[in-house]
Amino acid sequence: MAGPPWLWLQCAKAAKERSPLADTDAAFNDVLPEALRFRSPAPLVDIGANLTHDSFGRDLEAVVRRARAANVTTLIVTGTDRTHAEQAVALAQRYSGLFATAGVHPHDASRWDASLAAAMRELHQRPEVVAVGECGLDFNRNFSTPAEQERAFEAQLGLAAESGKPLFLHERDAGPRLREMLKAWRDDIADAVVHCFTADRDTLYGYLDLDLHIGLTGWICDERRGHHLRELVREIPSDRLMVETDCPYLLPRDLPARLKGRRNEPALLPWIVREIAHWRGSDEAELARATTKTAQRFFRLNEAGEAQETGRAQQES
Ligand SMILES: [Zn+2]
Repeated sequence: MAGPPWLWLQCAKAAKERSPLADTDAAFNDVLPEALRFRSPAPLVDIGANLTHDSFGRDLEAVVRRARAANVTTLIVTGTDRTHAEQAVALAQRYSGLFATAGVHPHDASRWDASLAAAMRELHQRPEVVAVGECGLDFNRNFSTPAEQERAFEAQLGLAAESGKPLFLHERDAGPRLREMLKAWRDDIADAVVHCFTADRDTLYGYLDLDLHIGLTGWICDERRGHHLRELVREIPSDRLMVETDCPYLLPRDLPARLKGRRNEPALLPWIVREIAHWRGSDEAELARATTKTAQRFFRLNEAGEAQETGRAQQES
């Protein structure tokens, strides 16, 4: 795959359709080898799908179809900057079961200004947008300076409080500072999830103490660096745990067959859930049901996977 290696290793930035897509085995088509055609025993919500990434430009409809065939029925499409958030909204309008987030990723924080803030505020009022983010702090790469990141994050904390919508957070090597900034706003913010959690026990408990949710990816499937997570996943309460692919990034390393192109996609989420269930010592179906219930409550989706109008702005106006 093109692009610098980190792009593929770590989380980066990352009217419904008129003709219903068939939910059949044929939907898997040629892309996924037989051994990768999973089907979750219960419907799943992929809370982090970067479907506006260029790598999905040519076959998005087939990607959505394969997700459904795998029983991954709801996809939260991550919006990491204005352009991608607008594209995510357009996808949510086009496909049922797709929703969008709208935020400015810490990598792009240097671009934060008043007009971007206004554009975000507008996006957050849209019914397709179910969370504010992806936003947060990434002191691992510092593509924007820490000061720029904190400024953009602080502003987005304010926007989350204003909209009443939950936060979709990104954090890398910035746990203590993220907690500190979030703490000041915690009472004003509905809910928050730290997506693609990969940190240590102290950081996990720091987040749980703030009553945050935790998003787990296929990082746990990585025998080189997922070990500590395997111990930790048991300690996440099931009503605080959600699952995600963070596709096209973070292709699980232990898949039972090789995937041409090495692009992760939502249809592979059942494999990740199976792995998490294994390390939690729980049943796959039970975990699938629990994470879906948690995600539906978190993003205010009803059981049919539709957004409910519960944003504070909508309630008050
Ligand atoms: Zn992220």
